[in-house]
Amino acid sequence: MDLPQPQTEDAVSSKRINKTGKKQRDRDEEAAYIIDDLKSGNFILLLQETPKVKMSHCQAWGCMPRKRTGKPVIKSHYRFMLKDISVSSKPKGEYYHVTCLERLLPDLSALVRDGHLKMDGYISAPLDSKVCLESSVEMIADWFKYGGRTFDLGCYENFKKDHREWEEDWSVRWIDHQLGHGEQPDNACNYCQSLPDPEEPKKSDYFPEEPSVILLSQLLATVSGQSHIDKWWRWKKQT
Ligand SMILES: [Zn+2]
Ligand SMILES: [Zn+2]
Repeated sequence: MDLPQPQTEDAVSSKRINKTGKKQRDRDEEAAYIIDDLKSGNFILLLQETPKVKMSHCQAWGCMPRKRTGKPVIKSHYRFMLKDISVSSKPKGEYYHVTCLERLLPDLSALVRDGHLKMDGYISAPLDSKVCLESSVEMIADWFKYGGRTFDLGCYENFKKDHREWEEDWSVRWIDHQLGHGEQPDNACNYCQSLPDPEEPKKSDYFPEEPSVILLSQLLATVSGQSHIDKWWRWKKQT
């Protein structure tokens, strides 16, 4: 009777290479399906905010959260929808974790530039993120506008803050002038003294000339005030 021979180190390592190779082939195959769908013009990829009731299932074959929790439910604040736009009356599509698709299609910015990847309406930070909502909306919109590049969140937040203060200051002075001192000109009033208005903060003083490249998942994590958008390794395994 032949006993199974212990595997040599070579056999083990070549098995490992084959396994990695197969994974890569699966990924390439899956990516090809998606790219093919997009190029057909019948599908479009949309970035969405996941509805409060989290029901959608990620379709990625190698979905990491599914491997971890046993369920492919997308619990993240953002998701992708591969939307079938060939039948306008009955929109349907498939959903993906942002990180799962990013693993499959590492160059999402190319899809943005080719018009295959868009925002589904306005996308903003989660309400509990402590990030200025307006800034988050602009930062995300710029990533799409500049095809995978945007500015640091701090640029948007600092500009917004100073601009808001400038506007408030300006309107308080104007109201004071209109209502505060009636017919009597006031020495401290810009308008009575025909002094120039305080200068409006200029965007160019807050933003560098060129936006920088950033991964979409990283951008979304930044506006969420998180280190990672899914943190799936923290999700409990379902039994
Ligand atoms: Zn997934
Ligand atoms: Zn005045």
